[in-house]
Parts: sequence; C-alpha cells; structure tokens
Amino acid sequence: MFPLRPALVFPICLSAACVCFIGCAVNPVTGDDEFMLIGEKEDKKIGRRYAPEIEKYMGGKLKDQALQEYINNVGQKVARASHRPHSGYEFAALNDSSVNAFALPGGYIYITRGMLEKLDSEAQLAGILAHETTHVVARHTAAAMSRQIGMFLLLAGAATAGTGGDEMAAAHVTAQIVDLRYTRADEQEADISGLNYVVRAGYNPYGMVEVMQMLQAENKDHPVEFFSTHPIPENRILYMTARIQTVFDNADQLRVGQDDYRKNVLDRLPQESQ
Ligand SMILES: [Zn+2]
Repeated sequence: MFPLRPALVFPICLSAACVCFIGCAVNPVTGDDEFMLIGEKEDKKIGRRYAPEIEKYMGGKLKDQALQEYINNVGQKVARASHRPHSGYEFAALNDSSVNAFALPGGYIYITRGMLEKLDSEAQLAGILAHETTHVVARHTAAAMSRQIGMFLLLAGAATAGTGGDEMAAAHVTAQIVDLRYTRADEQEADISGLNYVVRAGYNPYGMVEVMQMLQAENKDHPVEFFSTHPIPENRILYMTARIQTVFDNADQLRVGQDDYRKNVLDRLPQESQ
C-alpha cells in the first residue's frame, strides 16, 4: 500500500473527526443543553495534547515538588466537591511572573508564580482554583475554544498528537488557548459555583472574594493578565458577598489556612525565574 502523503492525511482525519466533534452537551452546572463543536470525550485528548505546549510557553512548572503537591492537594479537594468529581484533574504552578490562572479542557488547571505571590491564604488559593475548576466542569473552556479557535487548527493539532506532526498548527493553537476569552456570564457562573465548591471542600468562601478584590485593586495600577481572559462581571464583589451572607451561615468557621499557605508557598517561592 502507498503511504499517504502528508497533505492528504489531514483532510481524511478531519472529515472523520468532524462527525463526532459536533453536537450538544449538558452543562452540569446549569443543567442547560449547549451547542458544542468539541465533544466531551475529546476534552481529555485536547488537554493532554496541549498541556505540555502551554507549560513550555509559560516558563515550565516550578521545580519545587513539595510546593506542587500542596497546590495539587488543595485543587483536588475543590475538584472532589465539584459537579464532576471523578473526571480527573491536575493542578500545577507555572514559573511565570504574570498574575494569572487558567484551565485547559480535560482538567489541566494552572496558576502562575505571579499569582501565587499575591495570595496570602489557602482559602484564597482554593478560591481561585475553584473558579478555574468551574470553567472546566461547565465546559466554558471547551466552548470558548469552539467559538474562538478555528476547527481546522484545533482538529489538526489533536490529530497529530504524539506524532510530532504539525508543529506550526500546535504552536498557533497554543498561543490562542492562552488568550481564550470567557464571557461575563461564564465568569459569574465560575464565581457562584466556585463558592459552592470551596465551601463543600471546607474553605472559607471569603477567600475567593478577597482574591477578586485584590485582583481588581491591582488592575487599577496596571492591567492584570487574569482579566484579559476573565472579564470582570459587573458587581462581582457584591453578588459574591451577598451569596455568602445568605447561603453559607457557617462561612466564618471554615478553614482559612494563612500559616500553611505561607509555609508551603510564600516561603518557598523562588524570587525570580528558576
Ligand atoms: Zn474566569
């Protein structure tokens, strides 16, 4: 049999893949049917394909294993309290000075060194990780990819997974993933569901409000990277605070973990790039 010429491989893969990539999916956070160009089972494949590219693009993972374990443990507690507790999640810290946190489809969730430096408690860390976890659980990330990245590029990148194939397509998609922009409605959903997740995980939900207050204050001095992809919903602090006051009457008794965060993160963070 003749080997397929590279130019012929993509169209064949694409036409086969398109059939199962297009369809509807139920958002477990809202219960609504949503039109998606990427099927749920493809989330992991896409996440697995691009996680190493994104990590490289953002300075690599911090090399401190104990710090990574601490971040991942806090993230796993939150993920277990989510609407999709068994989907499989990985939380990691990247060696990048931007103030940011983001997620890939399939449960790859990242926080930057720049963001970790700005936080001061485990409840705050849990808050920002819960916000990102909701973006994965509600498939905001997959939806944003469906809207903002060309189907050809996305599928071409996934189709060449593990083959060392179309590097240019992969690099282009990587840059677009980092710049994916959520809607304000996604943001509000991530805030509200995130609060539920942190409380179920045993964390004080005011930690999440404090993170958003800190980021909004920082953003007045200079643009914070987090808000270039996570637009600020109107009245965010007000609706989060109102929800805590009306729904979680035990909020003040829940875990803050300021000392643990200092010991496990702040005291261990490298001052500059490793
Ligand atoms: Zn967000």
